[in-house]
Amino acid sequence: MGTAELPATAEVVIVGGGVMGCALAFHLTQRGVRPLLLERDRLGAGSTGRCAGGIRQQFSTVVNIRLARRSFELLARFPEEVGADPAYRPIGYLLLATTPDRAAQLEAAIARQRAEGVAVERLDGPAAAERVPGLRTDDVLCASWCPTDGLAGPSEVTLGYAGAARRRRAVLAEDTAVTGIRLRGDAVTGVVTPRGAVASGCVVICAGPQARAVGGLAGVTVPVDPVRRQAFVTGPFPGQPPRAPMTVDLDTSFYLHQEGPGLMIGMGNPEEPVGEDCSVDWGFLPELVAAATLRLPALADAEIRRGWAGLYEMTPDRQPLVGPVPERRGLWLACGFSGHGFMLGPSVGEGLAAWLTGGRPPVDLAAFTPERFDVGRAAPETLVI
Ligand SMILES: Cc1cc2nc3c(=O)[nH]c(=O)nc-3n(C[C@H](O)[C@H](O)[C@H](O)COP(=O)(O)OP(=O)(O)OC[C@H]3O[C@@H](n4cnc5c(N)ncnc54)[C@H](O)[C@@H]3O)c2cc1C
Repeated sequence: MGTAELPATAEVVIVGGGVMGCALAFHLTQRGVRPLLLERDRLGAGSTGRCAGGIRQQFSTVVNIRLARRSFELLARFPEEVGADPAYRPIGYLLLATTPDRAAQLEAAIARQRAEGVAVERLDGPAAAERVPGLRTDDVLCASWCPTDGLAGPSEVTLGYAGAARRRRAVLAEDTAVTGIRLRGDAVTGVVTPRGAVASGCVVICAGPQARAVGGLAGVTVPVDPVRRQAFVTGPFPGQPPRAPMTVDLDTSFYLHQEGPGLMIGMGNPEEPVGEDCSVDWGFLPELVAAATLRLPALADAEIRRGWAGLYEMTPDRQPLVGPVPERRGLWLACGFSGHGFMLGPSVGEGLAAWLTGGRPPVDLAAFTPERFDVGRAAPETLVI
């Protein structure tokens, strides 16, 4: 199935088979389009395959809150609509703010989420500690808790979409890199691969951290930078909190949650350079352990059993790029999710499929159009983990 026969023409070509490309392929088939998806490696082999699976409705911008809520609705309907189990586990998300600025941001986000109907609670330090026994909260100025946030399966969701799209006669080809984008004047006319060319007047870049490189094939600058992000899993340890929800220290970006018999822990490295290095930087571990033991002292006795690294796909305002590229007719973007693309994939896939076929996206995606930086309309997301 991987190296599917390439058609000579396609109504829509999707470049990249992560959660975004596969969600878009599925939603296009629901609107009567048979897209061609080209993946240079295996489906889900990019950022999606390294993802922690976190899904939350706790965002700071209204557009992300709405899209996240829509993704939750789509995941609830996933078994009937897509025919697969998305492996949703409502373990809850607990966000902690320890500085006055961060606490003010979190208070404002809670108000916005409530206005959008999210069942989020504001907690003080002691109430937050009740959710995660052993958590240090004496410095917590504000916390927020949403019990329906949690985890889902990146591979279950991505391959679920891919399978359903194929059953509806979309063509998804693996081991097929897009090496060129053909243009006539400023209009897209197709793509080139080592297995042949495909004519198409519509190409959607869903290439995650490689979106800048793929945009370059059409002579456009796509402002997405790959930045390494690591995650580690501990064994069981004395004093381990039972059933730990996703717990995030917003001021350091340190997070933990239950994973098998131990915890998954991770944190962004503010010094991490732009690049595609996906090797584990064990040299970063002391910094991570310092943040970890500050928040959950019992972690000092935990053994790190494994770690891995993947790439975040960062944009200047930490918001995705979704929509048509103004200077290239027929070229569209769905990339730059800045570390929250798994949870936005379903609703962005649905909305973009509607937009591409002349319909109305259930959640307006206009805030994500690529020209927002040129017209000074960027509104950054502050709850990036
Ligand atoms: C450690 C880690 C933890 C994360 N945790 C979370 C989380 O808890 N929740 C969450 O929502 N997000 C999380 N993310 C972010 C999330 O994984 C991404 O935002 C999301 O997977 C992006 O999906 P995508 O389909 O846009 O990109 P990708 O999954 O990277 O897919 C892009 C695909 O394009 C392919 N490609 C590239 N160039 C070409 C080409 N020239 N031709 C053909 N194919 C090409 C790649 O091979 C790749 O498969 C995490 C990321 C990391 C690294």
